Amino acid sequence: MVGRADEPLPDAADAVIVGGGVVGVAAARDLAPDYDVVVVEKGAVAGEASALAAGEVTLATTYIGEREGIAEYGTSFFRDYSGTGDFHYEERNGVELVPQGRGGEAREYAAGLRDTGANVEYIDPPTGRERYPRIDFDRFDGGIEFRDTGFLDPYTFATTLADDAEDRGATICTERAVTGLVVENGTVTGVETEGGRIDADHVVAAAGWRTTSFLAEHLEIPVQPYRTQCIVLEPDDPVGEDFPMGWLPGEHVYFRPELNGDVLVGGFSFAEDDPERASGQADEAFRQHVAELLPRFVEGGDRARFVNGWAGVDGATPDTLPIIDAPDAAPDGLVVAAGFHGRGVMTAPIAAAIVNALVRDTTPPFTRDPFRLDRFEDTSPDFEFTSISAGDDDYD
Ligand SMILES: Cc1cc2nc3c(=O)[nH]c(=O)nc-3n(C[C@H](O)[C@H](O)[C@H](O)COP(=O)(O)OP(=O)(O)OC[C@H]3O[C@@H](n4cnc5c(N)ncnc54)[C@H](O)[C@@H]3O)c2cc1C
Repeated sequence: MVGRADEPLPDAADAVIVGGGVVGVAAARDLAPDYDVVVVEKGAVAGEASALAAGEVTLATTYIGEREGIAEYGTSFFRDYSGTGDFHYEERNGVELVPQGRGGEAREYAAGLRDTGANVEYIDPPTGRERYPRIDFDRFDGGIEFRDTGFLDPYTFATTLADDAEDRGATICTERAVTGLVVENGTVTGVETEGGRIDADHVVAAAGWRTTSFLAEHLEIPVQPYRTQCIVLEPDDPVGEDFPMGWLPGEHVYFRPELNGDVLVGGFSFAEDDPERASGQADEAFRQHVAELLPRFVEGGDRARFVNGWAGVDGATPDTLPIIDAPDAAPDGLVVAAGFHGRGVMTAPIAAAIVNALVRDTTPPFTRDPFRLDRFEDTSPDFEFTSISAGDDDYD
């Protein structure tokens, strides 16, 4: 790792990756066996959104139906990668808790999902109580149980990918910002950095929510900053292996167990006008919301202690899916990987495979259509923000 500001950067590479978040280092790892790859990160690897993530892997709920092949690719990656270095992927079912009076609709909705090939089942309250005794199913009309979900520690995941990328020959330079893209005759020829120019045939813009301003002179993308939060609580009686991950429709939260028996609750996501100065602390209103909510679904939730809380900024898109593309409107040689909208950790292996295919001019092992920039007619970053943790409460 080229870590100190006085250490010289390479002056040429096949591919420069702008941003050493989880997406940048995952892409570097995939490209490194065959390309001379340099990652340039203005701070530390995973120093921004990536280390702040809740670590939920809910690809199975996100990439279903016509997005076939995407969830399977990502889920297999996490299963196979678990055990690499200190990285561990914990498989755990995800249960969407169904509000009272909505059981019929939820049952139909789950059946529809199954028809699209999703590994999902509607469970009635007695089944819920039996499978997940710490969830108070007396207050719900059952749940929609998703298999093939899980969680991980995002910082360990990102740093393991970075170590792997370096072992495969990539150079990771930290503490140095990329100040601009060099474009000649419509083609990318490198980047300018705080440590000098790096010539390159390919540049991958993976700079998180800052990708929009980084590319502004060359390409407009509909990615805007938003702020989202997490809180960890320690119940009197730690939750065990039969505690699921889950969602509460309409309550703007998701939850998952920690391996030590604590419960992490995330959500409360809003568009952020001042991302550089946004607070890294969880809001008091979110703390209160979670304190009131926990006893409503976790047995013993009224006796849980606050452990810690935090907030971070990620990039949002109008349809909540990222942009992973070498768009026609962009200079040749530019690949964009941004707008991960609260799912960048789980989507990193998928993004890496697409970036790899775009650089090599091959096709990834699944459809990349949902991630193309040209799915948007309007590419302005000024759009109305949609929260993915709001929950789907209409089952349509
Ligand atoms: C509280 C919270 C909870 C979340 N929970 C989950 C979850 O459970 N599951 C999930 O999958 N995702 C989750 N996310 C989202 C996830 O963290 C992001 O989608 C993901 O980290 C995006 O990765 P990235 O590499 O695109 O961006 P980042 O991690 O933001 O990395 C971009 C990097 O680019 C660098 N950079 C920017 N500009 C420049 C420049 N000019 N030169 C050099 N470097 C530059 C930045 O310093 C930064 O390190 C959560 C996010 C937050 C904040």
